[in-house]
Amino acid sequence: MKDKLILVTGAGGFIGGNLVSSLKNQGYTRLRAVDVKPLEQWYQKFDDVENLSLDLNDKENCEIAAKDAVDIYNLAANMGGMGFIEKNKALCMLSVLINTHMLMAAQKFGAKRFFYSSSACVYNGDLQHTADDGDMFTPPSLKEADAYPALAEDGYGWEKLFSERMCRHYMEDFGLYARVARFHNVYGPWGTWFGGREKAPAAICRKVIEAKLSGKHEIEIWGNGHQTRSFMYIDDCVKGVEMIMDSNILEPINLGSSEAVSINQLVDIVEGIAGIKLKRNYDLGAPKGVNGRNSDNTLIQKYLGWEPSISLRDGLAKTYAWIYDQYQMRERGEAGVVREAEVAHK
Ligand code: NAD
Repeated sequence: MKDKLILVTGAGGFIGGNLVSSLKNQGYTRLRAVDVKPLEQWYQKFDDVENLSLDLNDKENCEIAAKDAVDIYNLAANMGGMGFIEKNKALCMLSVLINTHMLMAAQKFGAKRFFYSSSACVYNGDLQHTADDGDMFTPPSLKEADAYPALAEDGYGWEKLFSERMCRHYMEDFGLYARVARFHNVYGPWGTWFGGREKAPAAICRKVIEAKLSGKHEIEIWGNGHQTRSFMYIDDCVKGVEMIMDSNILEPINLGSSEAVSINQLVDIVEGIAGIKLKRNYDLGAPKGVNGRNSDNTLIQKYLGWEPSISLRDGLAKTYAWIYDQYQMRERGEAGVVREAEVAHK
């Protein structure tokens, strides 16, 4: 079983790269990693893996990727934090080509199992306009049924919801067994931390590092800082993906932490890790997404008797340390080289 061919798409990115690393460490010997980025831009790359740079918007490339694969983890998508998805709605929706063509190719080549990475952005926005209690917006715990009636995040969320349904129809009509997890904000090492696609935890770590190293003890925060979210550490995410793939859960399921915090609390934690206190400047016009949300983990507990449990404090300490190193490498102009060297040490 360890020699079945496993395809991971989006493998040059954050979650895909960490998943390949985990599968490799478990002894899987035939891994195919695919991403549109040129190989030298992948966050993690492993020599004993078949690494392919392919644009999976194209059906033919999906067929090259899926040929002979038994398990397919589709983690490729055009995505980023709020700053990116609010300004690139068409681009986000075009990821529909990736999942549709991947499903078609998976069926054509007889893949046994298919995993699709959906998002908490599928949930009905009306449920997330919650009240501000003066410190934070009440974070509603969203259960799986709350995706309907549908009012998903404009652009990115609608693509995810449509693709979830495509997975279900491929299962119903063609017997392709798809697992669908709705990720709630994932963070950790080997994720995007600058350039415009980074999400709140990485952006805040970077800003705190910038303030610390520059001596300018200020931080810009998007919105009033009362927005609430839950954040899942990458190790919990990868473990959850693997458990869901190995399960018989054939309906979309939340994969997220249920430890909700406000953005101000997130900044408090990172300041604590950095040993610094910053003056906070709030940009009320910046993209900030819905007021509040949290992951209701009743269903995953019922099926797996497990839920993500790595504390935000512990996960952020590791993430901060990683971004700190990356920041200094970038300052020295050697990030790419060091990235590869670090992979070799893992
Ligand atoms: P990421 O941007 O780091 O990785 C996605 C990868 O997909 C990138 O490396 C990108 O180059 C690749 N890609 C984009 N278009 C492609 C194409 N046409 N062909 C081949 N590859 C292509 O993002 P991530 O955080 O690793 O996200 C992985 C998946 O999880 C995505 O589907 C994303 O929507 C979903 N997700 C992530 C989060 C999160 O918090 N990170 C939350 C919800 C859902």
